[in-house]
Amino acid sequence: MSAFAFAPQPRHETVGVSVGGVTVGGGAPIVVQSMTNTDTADIDATVAQVAALHKAGSELVRITVDRDESAAAVPKIRERLERLGLDVPLIGDFHYIGHKLLADHPACAEALAKYRINPGNVGFKAKKDKQFAAIIERAIQFDKPVRIGVNWGSLDQELLTRLMDDNQAKGFPLTAEQVMRETIVQSALISAELAEEIGLPRNRIILSAKVSNVQDLIACYAMLSSRSNHALHLGLTEAGMGTKGIVASSASLGILLQQGIGDTIRISLTPEPGGDRTREVQVAQELLQVMGFRQFLPVVAACPGCGRTTSTVFQELAQKIQEDIRRNMPVWREKYPGVEGLKVAVMGCIVNGPGESKHADIGISLPGTGELPAAPVYIDGKKALTLRGTNIAGDFETLVGDYIEKRFGNGQAAAE
Ligand code: SF4
Repeated sequence: MSAFAFAPQPRHETVGVSVGGVTVGGGAPIVVQSMTNTDTADIDATVAQVAALHKAGSELVRITVDRDESAAAVPKIRERLERLGLDVPLIGDFHYIGHKLLADHPACAEALAKYRINPGNVGFKAKKDKQFAAIIERAIQFDKPVRIGVNWGSLDQELLTRLMDDNQAKGFPLTAEQVMRETIVQSALISAELAEEIGLPRNRIILSAKVSNVQDLIACYAMLSSRSNHALHLGLTEAGMGTKGIVASSASLGILLQQGIGDTIRISLTPEPGGDRTREVQVAQELLQVMGFRQFLPVVAACPGCGRTTSTVFQELAQKIQEDIRRNMPVWREKYPGVEGLKVAVMGCIVNGPGESKHADIGISLPGTGELPAAPVYIDGKKALTLRGTNIAGDFETLVGDYIEKRFGNGQAAAE
């Protein structure tokens, strides 16, 4: 048998966890989630960003709960979102004083759909188990799930030291890197076991083990997955900005997903100053869609262009079609059931244009340099017509709208 898997491995069986009605694990579709970067105490800004992330496709949104003011804002944010008709589950991200905030702000504890805690900074020495238990007891009291999210940047130092000492006593059978990975995995598993002992059932626990190095991440999640059936949240922490962050996250999460590991994903991109926070949601959706796990929006296949295309018409058309689709999807999703399965092709010249267009539901082969100014359009695999003149791009957009209306609509005009 080939060592290389040409198809995704069966999903690793995990215990499903309901997060405000969205199921994570247990064979449910892989869930997309994201996190705000607003001050949660700023209710207007946080509501606006949660709404933007949710409208972009984030099925769960995490918010920071770092002090009394932000804890007090949480129920108000929940209420405002409900008034906007947005029932996206909110996850509270707690560090250091989560036990106190949840105790002092019961309305916050109730409004959140899940609590995220980090065993590396829930408390130190004698206080650690006590404060961890206090959070778990709140989760039991309010019937909420918890994500036990280990992060190598705030790794449990006592556990790390103990495992380093054990390794030394055994004559260093493991490298320092292997001990670090083992500590990350053990930190998650020991904390999960403790939570279950306190009384939080397994179907209320999600685990994560985030690191910023791709190979470490793959190794940690493979270890975690082989040793437990807890639902797993995948994410490369501190993935970085722009293409670096996208590539590093996609490479690591893609490999794990292909191995059947992972029940929910978050892409931790650093936005450029003033950049769009919803980009992390787009990347998460596109990763799941290109790998064939989920379908969120129509695919636009476009050739990369080459020396046969001296005009930018096809680049502009491909970009415009892509943007139109993303902009219209919130409406289309309701109005045109199944539209997310649509495939559009925008090709630059006759070399691959007709072939690729025939494989799409609707495709256009634009004229390359030296070709006649005519653009054949293929619908459902057959040449349907040829566009000519100066408004080929506009005419094609109209045809795409008509096609969507005819195939997925109910006799209404296409959404603009
Ligand atoms: S379809 Fe034509 S323009 Fe596009 S990459 Fe291929 S040869 Fe170049």
